[in-house]
Amino acid sequence: MASADKIVIVGAGIGGLTAALAALKRGLDVEVYEQAAELKEVGAGIQISSNGTRVLYALGLEEALKRVQVLPSKRQIRHWATGETWNWFDLGAVTQQRYGTPHVMLHRGDLHGLLADAVRSLKPDAVRLGKHCATISTAPDHVEVRFEDGETVRAACVIGADGIHSKVRQLLFGADKPEFTGCVAWRGLVPMEKLPPHIAQMLGTNWLGPSGHVLHYPVRRGEIMNFISFVERDDWQVESWVTQGTNDELANDFRGWHDDVHAIIRNIETPYKWAMMVRGPMPRWSEGRVTLMGDACHPTLPFLGQGGVMAVEDGYVLAACLKKYFADPARAFARYEDIRRERTATVVRKSHENRRSAFSPALADRGQVAVEVAREWQQERVRERMEWLYAYDATAVEI
Ligand SMILES: Cc1cc2nc3c(=O)[nH]c(=O)nc-3n(C[C@H](O)[C@H](O)[C@H](O)COP(=O)(O)OP(=O)(O)OC[C@H]3O[C@@H](n4cnc5c(N)ncnc54)[C@H](O)[C@@H]3O)c2cc1C
Repeated sequence: MASADKIVIVGAGIGGLTAALAALKRGLDVEVYEQAAELKEVGAGIQISSNGTRVLYALGLEEALKRVQVLPSKRQIRHWATGETWNWFDLGAVTQQRYGTPHVMLHRGDLHGLLADAVRSLKPDAVRLGKHCATISTAPDHVEVRFEDGETVRAACVIGADGIHSKVRQLLFGADKPEFTGCVAWRGLVPMEKLPPHIAQMLGTNWLGPSGHVLHYPVRRGEIMNFISFVERDDWQVESWVTQGTNDELANDFRGWHDDVHAIIRNIETPYKWAMMVRGPMPRWSEGRVTLMGDACHPTLPFLGQGGVMAVEDGYVLAACLKKYFADPARAFARYEDIRRERTATVVRKSHENRRSAFSPALADRGQVAVEVAREWQQERVRERMEWLYAYDATAVEI
């Protein structure tokens, strides 16, 4: 059993690794216990908006990001059936100038890998693999985490960064009650050279249509196109990315959509599907010396592209709170919750609202897409909707 002066993080996802890096940078001792036998991420893309890159830059990751990121020039909207295109908003120079740090598009494995490298450069043995958290027991002056292989570790405090199906959340607060949204997400990657040049562009594209939504954007220096789509369907209710679908099933979900959408679908190497669930906000995230972060406490629908970014912000703030109040973890966690709860609850709520506007049956009408673009998707409207998110500076919050 090791020393009780350290922080134990359960889960080495984007959130857990960010928290570990932020804590190590502040001179705190951290160990991260990950259930997977190998440190890797699902093959998919992730967008990190300016509020997230602000944190990653503060953690010294600017150069590592530059080696793998795509800086898109802009975002465009296309009509699901005709392919008509509208410019949506600038994601390049204007965004960088306005918010100070860029909006980047990444392969999840690249982001995960650079976070893991940074953690290991500060503490080579910080990440322990093949460790599935089974139980947690607390004493007045320490916490013990037991893993399925029988090993037990003792820590000053524990952070549950173990994602949407969090064991730590379940141990603290019992089982959750997710509600199915009636919507399924598809994900897949396509090597860029398999796409026609007019699709293989360095920009983000959203396709507006009825009962579904498609977006695609380049990742890994532009070598791969990331595809995500959402479709109303109620025959699939498994919330997990390990489930593979087929290209035919995916194509069938987007029957009648423009051939550019199908050109991508045809070339996806392995399509994965995920049933989208919602959960109500939790009244609290912490119990004594144990707290939660990221998807473990505020899982969100992806309609604002902020779940991972919120985990990154959480990790930074959590480390700052622990640095200030290390001798009193309950106080550190209370301050962390005060800082983070309202912002993350707003993200969860607005993502849910966006799901309703992302696709409505009215968009089947050919003219209605143009009306919708003019009303909701112009640069100024988008700025009004997103300013509070992108301008936020988690690195400057008073602890
Ligand atoms: C379709 C889709 C698109 C998205 N796009 C974006 C986007 O563009 N931008 C964005 O910011 N977010 C996006 N998100 C959200 C983002 O993926 C998540 O919010 C983010 O991955 C949460 O990170 P996390 O570290 O909290 O959890 P996770 O990434 O789920 O990591 C949890 C880790 O804990 C480990 N673990 C689980 N249980 C245990 C256990 N008992 N013991 C030990 N280890 C355990 C897991 O193996 C995993 O490594 C998207 C989500 C979806 C579904």
